Amino acid sequence: MATYTKRAVSFLHAALLPLRRLWYGVRRRYRTLRIMPAASRLLGPQYVRSRDAIEIDITYVCNLRCNNCNRSITQAPEKTHMTVGMIEDFVRDSIAQGKRWRVIRLLGGEPTLHPQFGMIIEALRRYRQFAPRCDIQVVSNGFGKAVQAVLETIPGDVTIENSGKDGQRIQPMFGPFNLAPIDDPAFRSVDYVNGCSIMEECGMGLAPTGYYQCAVAGGIDRLLRGQQGYRSLPADDDDMQELSRNLCRLCGHFRDGHMVPADLRPPLLDTPRSETWDRIYTDWKKRRRPLRATEKAAP
Ligand code: SF4
Ligand code: SF4
Repeated sequence: MATYTKRAVSFLHAALLPLRRLWYGVRRRYRTLRIMPAASRLLGPQYVRSRDAIEIDITYVCNLRCNNCNRSITQAPEKTHMTVGMIEDFVRDSIAQGKRWRVIRLLGGEPTLHPQFGMIIEALRRYRQFAPRCDIQVVSNGFGKAVQAVLETIPGDVTIENSGKDGQRIQPMFGPFNLAPIDDPAFRSVDYVNGCSIMEECGMGLAPTGYYQCAVAGGIDRLLRGQQGYRSLPADDDDMQELSRNLCRLCGHFRDGHMVPADLRPPLLDTPRSETWDRIYTDWKKRRRPLRATEKAAP
């Protein structure tokens, strides 16, 4: 029965392929027009940051070195952890603002490698006394005994999203994160306030340097030492547009603007990098020092 269902699904998948191609082709063309300044002024940003979902990068330590990592763990490894105090501040600010998050996702790096991972989980579970329907998720690469051992200790009321990586550097499904749109003439006159679907669908971000429109932006700001992150949780009427203008211009995810299914794009087998990213990593190496994980992000 299972084989029959599997065959039916793959038949349907193949039958719908031309239609899906057409749909994503239309979306690509629409995106090209939608990010033009005139369209952005007329319609507002294509995407706005989430108000009910947040991704928290609790560490930039990872046991893998995937190509094209969109937190630059491979390109610029750094042993920086978020303090437990920052998580407690996040919980306190959320309660003070009456924020009942639909979902809180813990990522990194590999979140289970944070030395106080258990304390962070407990702080968030206490928050659930205020927001009982909040789904706390741990997003792990699932690789290696140390990670798996921690995963086994996670309480049953916390969701685990395990990508089951096998340690390979090449991740064909990833996107070309290090192709900065500002280096591409096709994006010369676009409005970066439009961001991409990540800040809406995955959530806004909290990184060791503060709050951002998405966690990827926090990972970019770590390298710039720009410390542009907000020190405290933004109010709901704040779209964080200045951060999108400053940071989306560097992010390869801006190019498509939305997730394109793996079977509709070529697998990414190399590590494309545009000149701005070459410069960012070179500068980062020159002034390399551990990023200070502060109780609050710096101003
Ligand atoms: S497992 Fe995730 S965080 Fe770690 S290097 Fe790979 S993509 Fe980056
Ligand atoms: S383009 Fe990059 S930095 Fe901007 S919202 Fe999307 S993922 Fe975040």
